[in-house]
Amino acid sequence: MKGMMMNEPLSILEILRYAASAHPGAEVVSSRVEGDMHRETYATAYVRAARLAHGLGRLGVAPGDRVATLAWNGYRHFELYYAVSGMGAVCHTINPRLSAEQMLYIIGHAEDRVLCFDTTFLPLVEALADRLPRGMTLVALCERKALPDSRLDLVAYEDLFEGQPDTYDWPRLPEDSAAALCYTSGTTGHPKGALYTHRSTVLHAMSLAIALSASLQEGGRILPVVPLFHVNAWGLPYAAPLVGASLVMPGPKLDGASLFDLIEAQGVTSAWGVPTVWLGLRSEIEARGRVPEGFRQVVIGGSAAPRPMIEGFERAGIEVIHAWGMTEMSPVGTHGLLSEPMRELPVEERMRLKSKQGRRIFGVELKIADEDGTRLPEDGRASGELFVRGNTVISGYFANAEASANAFDGEGWFGTGDVATIDAQGFVTIQDRTKDLIKSGGEWISSIDLENLAMAHPKVASCAVIAVPHPKWDERPLLVVVPRDAANPPTLADLHDAMRDHVARWQLPDDLVLLEELPLTATGKVSKLTLRDRFRDHVLP
Ligand code: ADP
Repeated sequence: MKGMMMNEPLSILEILRYAASAHPGAEVVSSRVEGDMHRETYATAYVRAARLAHGLGRLGVAPGDRVATLAWNGYRHFELYYAVSGMGAVCHTINPRLSAEQMLYIIGHAEDRVLCFDTTFLPLVEALADRLPRGMTLVALCERKALPDSRLDLVAYEDLFEGQPDTYDWPRLPEDSAAALCYTSGTTGHPKGALYTHRSTVLHAMSLAIALSASLQEGGRILPVVPLFHVNAWGLPYAAPLVGASLVMPGPKLDGASLFDLIEAQGVTSAWGVPTVWLGLRSEIEARGRVPEGFRQVVIGGSAAPRPMIEGFERAGIEVIHAWGMTEMSPVGTHGLLSEPMRELPVEERMRLKSKQGRRIFGVELKIADEDGTRLPEDGRASGELFVRGNTVISGYFANAEASANAFDGEGWFGTGDVATIDAQGFVTIQDRTKDLIKSGGEWISSIDLENLAMAHPKVASCAVIAVPHPKWDERPLLVVVPRDAANPPTLADLHDAMRDHVARWQLPDDLVLLEELPLTATGKVSKLTLRDRFRDHVLP
């Protein structure tokens, strides 16, 4: 028997329309490329989205067209998110840290018609220009008077608004219409596109708001350090207006001092980003000997949050919420907020739990399986590849039958490529990526475990553990360390001492290499691929 309820399609634009009426005073504050601060309320952003949709229509953008962005976190990027998806087109966010080849590949693959870019990216756009699709419209995100000199034919973003009405007859789109497109950086082969729908995006925002309600609160002021060009800034541009939290957009300046100042000046309550950015903020907090006033939380994801980082923030009175996910999952899959009884546990136990990746969010199912696909018990010990299923997980890669065919198991679960355990309380621990695991004499060594132990050493600023080919054992672990003080670096023996009580003897790294900095991927994570290439021929002692 069918129920008798209305059936409104879930729509991204509805989020902003709702925020404009229910939380009209909440705002988007942006540190602009122009160098100043800009503020607009969600009510204003909703009107601007309408005018922008008209302007994009004038450029010829039609439903289903892909509109690319190459932009920092700021209100114009936010407006594009809503106007483009709201009019039925697809917002394709491009990661500016991709190589030129990768960028050209995804622009061609997505068949982008328009490219909207922050003026800081003009040199990049000029370098790509001759190889961009013919007829592509280039929109510089600025006013006409700020249009940079260029041999290219540029449209000023603010000109798109001129003479446009404050309302738009937003189409009633089927909720499974494509709304946004994001390519994974792809460590091998071409990047692959996750094509989100209105439905998946709204459901993800709602699940996120429920799961991370400690951060996503009405009146909260949230700093997405995670870029809008990377998996929709983990869903914050949707979840924050939904709950009535303001967004504080950092623009291009993401060093520790700039973040500290922005957090303090804008009364930020909660900030979200990958571990590498928090290294800078933590040093700044240490250097100034205080925490920005009112700053309560950091949400850390994208790669494992090292335990010393979690402890450091918590000691300073800043709550750490660890989260795990991936582009193919919209992206959030799990969060590490402790349940009520866990909050009462002794500190040591709480920190142990907090360094896990946590529980699933509503709508995401998890399982671990061995190499034959047999489901493994959730006992905190059995470890296998993590598979996911749910409304916020891709059903295939955009226009890529080959990658799609290999992404799912026989029951339709998506294989994450992460190796994990799940304990009886549903807490996931990510042990490694399948491709980063070290296989020594047929036994696995978790690089994340060793990194966590090395990071706890006071002489280590950051580190990575990679597999190096070995004639006898196939692979052995090599530890790469950036020392806190180059004049007084740790020795391999120092680090073995820090690890010995926690791992088996044969799991200890065979050698130590000191570097000034670690290579990063386009999404700000340590690039183990680069390190593996660089140290492929490293001779172990
Ligand atoms: P990419 O880094 O390839 O661009 P994603 O940003 O989608 O792609 O990265 C997803 C991957 O990042 C996950 O599969 C996992 O390996 C890793 N990851 C994300 N969050 C965490 C976390 N909290 N702990 C450990 N690994 C994580």
